[in-house]
Amino acid sequence: MVHPALSGLPPTGRSPDVPAPPAPAANQEEVRRQNLGAVLRHVHVHGPTSRAELTARLGLNRSTIRALAADLAAAGLVTEKAPTTTRRAGRPSLVVSPRSTRVYARAMTIEPDRLRAARVGLGGRVLDLREVEHPRGSCPADAVRPLSWLIRDMERTAGPDAICVGAAVAVTDTTHGRDGRIRIAGPDDALRVAFDAEFPSGPPVVAGDMADIAALAEQVRGVAAGVDDLVYLHGGPGVSAGIIIGGRLVRGHGGHSGKVGHMVVNPHGHPCRCGSRGCWETEIGDAALLRHAGRDQESPDTVAEVLRAAADGEPAARAAVEQVADWLGFGVANLVNVVNPDTVVFGGSLREVYLAGAETVHRRLDELALPASREQVQLRPAALGGTAALVGAAELAFAHLLADPLGGAAPA
Ligand SMILES: [Zn+2]
Repeated sequence: MVHPALSGLPPTGRSPDVPAPPAPAANQEEVRRQNLGAVLRHVHVHGPTSRAELTARLGLNRSTIRALAADLAAAGLVTEKAPTTTRRAGRPSLVVSPRSTRVYARAMTIEPDRLRAARVGLGGRVLDLREVEHPRGSCPADAVRPLSWLIRDMERTAGPDAICVGAAVAVTDTTHGRDGRIRIAGPDDALRVAFDAEFPSGPPVVAGDMADIAALAEQVRGVAAGVDDLVYLHGGPGVSAGIIIGGRLVRGHGGHSGKVGHMVVNPHGHPCRCGSRGCWETEIGDAALLRHAGRDQESPDTVAEVLRAAADGEPAARAAVEQVADWLGFGVANLVNVVNPDTVVFGGSLREVYLAGAETVHRRLDELALPASREQVQLRPAALGGTAALVGAAELAFAHLLADPLGGAAPA
């Protein structure tokens, strides 16, 4: 079972005038399973919620909510407690809360220079977080053993009744080859096999692209909460996008969609690591910012230094940010025309570039995007910052539990 947003595009291939086939009659058990999932998902996303509010929000009757909450509590997934304060007279409605410190997911990231692992509790709370350096020249599968050490180290200090219900890893599409050059990689079979070997008895590790997973995180808990059509742009050594349309993540035929960093925007521009020339990434990636600012060493610290210098008014750094913001607006206008998103979210180093050069990005957008699309679109800096990928990975990891809370080996 995968996250609903990862299960592919909405149903396609049927023209709108052909009636949909009748839905199969759902049996009682199926309805109960869906309702349990709806209650657990609500408290997972929105936090502690009274039974009365669940009744109103989910459109179910009071006795049904009472029974569902009792089942989830008996399974050890939620608690039900009287509210600490109540404004109404009479018996207060019990508050249903996720058991965040008991039920958790293993969330991991494989980034260009570091590996991170976290225990994220139901409800999206980061309970514990560790990180180590990821030496340049390593392939993603080399990350599996150090990540498993981090996970085991954290789990030694977890409470005796803590239970892991899922695991996921966000993999950047940018790694450094053994020659030190950056190259394009991502989740692959070798990675899955290595994780299976490292965690033979735990829940299987689901792998996803970093930008896709950060997009999910922003859509569930961040600046695009509840938005169905969004483009999340992640900037760093490489540039990629998580694109959600109709509430579903677009993955493409082979799972490689969203490589917007390789849209050719300047055919006479700089050579790109992909072998092409003038890709968007060569104009808005970290290397472009450093090139424009007259710095030559590419590292997250140097990028942060240029962004800081720009904020302090250093002319070269300021001009570099403006130049990158200009190209950023150019590409965003194209994406807005193609996708017609409700929101475009800027993450990674593009978050800071957008914040520093928002006026330039908007000017380009106004100049180049079609009015019908640009007038509706919101541009937003990512809200979740550095933990987005871990929070998003946890969402992937919780998907199975949220789809079927008491199914199979339900925690007790
Ligand atoms: Zn390229």
